[in-house]
Amino acid sequence: MVNPPIGLISSAASEELLQDRRIEMVDTPFGQAPVLVGRIAGREAAVILRYGGNLTVPSHKINYRANIWALKELGVESIISQNAIGSVNPMIRPGDIVISDDFLDRTKDRPQSLFDESDCWVRVDFTDPFCPRLRGDLITAANRHSNRVIERGVFVCTEGPRFETPAEIRSYQRDGGDIVGTPLVPEVVFAREAEMCFASIAPVINFGAGMAPAVVHFGPGSMNDAYYAEGLHELIEKTLIDAIGAVSHDRGCNCGNALKGGFHGVPPVWLKSRNVDASGKPPADIFATLPRS
Ligand SMILES: [Zn+2]
Repeated sequence: MVNPPIGLISSAASEELLQDRRIEMVDTPFGQAPVLVGRIAGREAAVILRYGGNLTVPSHKINYRANIWALKELGVESIISQNAIGSVNPMIRPGDIVISDDFLDRTKDRPQSLFDESDCWVRVDFTDPFCPRLRGDLITAANRHSNRVIERGVFVCTEGPRFETPAEIRSYQRDGGDIVGTPLVPEVVFAREAEMCFASIAPVINFGAGMAPAVVHFGPGSMNDAYYAEGLHELIEKTLIDAIGAVSHDRGCNCGNALKGGFHGVPPVWLKSRNVDASGKPPADIFATLPRS
């Protein structure tokens, strides 16, 4: 049996991280998505660069549904998301690494479901917002490379592309938020709807507005410098290599049954016709729990 590739969604992937790479244009019901296919830690991997190869796609314009479904088409079962983020919690500082265990959705204008245009709707459980198995792999790997790992945290996802205001940051603090960034939602939602495992590793690269003199994207003293010039990028890629090398193909979690009991209506035609497994063989019965029309 061919093991499924491990999925990674990131802003960048060095040659050291993703080896033997090639680009695949994957057709999805939501448009075509470019995927870098190669090897990480000796395993098959499929990598989405969510901002595009030249960082030209802002968070609010990402085709989230195409990205997630492209990984599904390639047989991915487990997705690790890399998010370089800001801190809302004064106790969480730049240089820390957060493995979130919950999130607050503060986006405004993004697709809500993979099934928005279909004659059906789904209600997936988010009691465990991130896959506990993948979170465990990330925590173990991160602790191997850093003594600044925060093993729980609430990720506040905002619409962007602007940064937040000080009043917004204070409201996130009151609501229990720990870190803030823009692309997590709806990636995490669509992964769950596609019955895939999903977890996030988030290096902190700045304090939120009002907690520092300014929030700067590029240039001296910027969050981009904090990520690349201060070694966080290398640290995160080493962690990703370790974590991806450790991911078990025996999932042992409930993510693969996310639609069970939560799907109402008629499954769209594309769902049945595009349901293929890693070897390209006919439909793996991953959506077997759905009612069939
Ligand atoms: Zn899982």
